[in-house]
Amino acid sequence: MNSPPPSVAVNGRSYRWPQRPVVVVCVDGCEPEYINQAIAAGRTPYLARLRESGTCLTADCVVPSFTNPNNLSIVTGAPPSVHGICGNYFWDRDAGAEVMMNDPKYLRAGTILAAFAEAGASVAVVTAKDKLRALLGHRMHGICFSSEKAAEATVAANGIDDVVAMVGMPVPSVYSAELSEFVFAAGVKLASARRPDVMYLSTTDYVQHKAAPGIAAANDFYAMMDRYLAQLDALGATIVLTADHGMNAKTDAFGAPNVIYLQDVLDGACGAGSTRVILPITDPYVVHHGALGSFATVYVLGTATGADVAARIAALPGIEQVLTRAEAAARFELPPDRIGDLVVVSERLTVIGTSRDRHDLSALDVPLRSHGGTSEQQVPLIANRRAATLPAGRRWRNFDAFDLALNLLP
Ligand SMILES: [Zn+2]
Repeated sequence: MNSPPPSVAVNGRSYRWPQRPVVVVCVDGCEPEYINQAIAAGRTPYLARLRESGTCLTADCVVPSFTNPNNLSIVTGAPPSVHGICGNYFWDRDAGAEVMMNDPKYLRAGTILAAFAEAGASVAVVTAKDKLRALLGHRMHGICFSSEKAAEATVAANGIDDVVAMVGMPVPSVYSAELSEFVFAAGVKLASARRPDVMYLSTTDYVQHKAAPGIAAANDFYAMMDRYLAQLDALGATIVLTADHGMNAKTDAFGAPNVIYLQDVLDGACGAGSTRVILPITDPYVVHHGALGSFATVYVLGTATGADVAARIAALPGIEQVLTRAEAAARFELPPDRIGDLVVVSERLTVIGTSRDRHDLSALDVPLRSHGGTSEQQVPLIANRRAATLPAGRRWRNFDAFDLALNLLP
């Protein structure tokens, strides 16, 4: 067998070959306060111990602070301007249609996972929802499956079969905390049975959309996660944990959602058909957020001018920023061809909708919590080892997770 290369280069960065198994965990919607509160409540003894022996950084995620752009940033080590995935949807002007960006054909960069597999490493990926699986596993030789479709995994398609028997848990509902527990349980089984060189685990934010930091359901989730992290640590893994985005209440003091129905506002101000509001948070699983987040992009189609539309949006209470395409592409490192003429970010307590009749809020059984803006940009970047020194003054990003794990930790 050939000896492994000293390092692997991906998207302009170099990553050292792992000396022990490396596990990068993306905890969906993990505002730093969730971990702080769980430690304070005494529910996460393993994470509490890391205050002495580990590393705790606060990092910025990618804006829009949504799931897919950030998961793809973490596994490519690069922002959306490089990998191309800046949301779940964009507006295809030529086709005149909203196009889903879940297909790997929209991915413009290779992943760290695929590059290590190509260089001979054993690589495993487990994700909660199947919507991410094809993107994360694009051109990767190894194991890649979702909790959601675990029962359907085959060696040919996923690099593994009999997943449900291996994990020893029934396949959970797509709307459950157990969907994420399945990811951790699978990770521990894979780490002990197959000892992959590199593993990526990605959960879902079902709990975080429902429960604020410190609430019982949230602490229960982190206590569960803590038990599995301790097992991965005991198996000798280097663990780096980060999040795709934070999470905030998007309501008034009585719990009613603060929503700007931006398409309705612009239709009234500029005329129907003169603008198209796209919410890149929209996906097939909208029960817990009603497709409402703090980020929208607007295409100016008719006789209205971008400057006029931008001024009208900026005047609305609850709007934090209105940027032109060029400004947004530069500030948030986004691919200019996949965002609208304007990018709109709302404030921490406010979300943006399209038209009132396009959002079904009846399934929201608790006050709305969501993400998407700069108010959900700060996330934890935690490791179970401590570097002798770390670069001073660096703006840490969640997509530095593999750099930290492979290049900076002992
Ligand atoms: Zn997410």
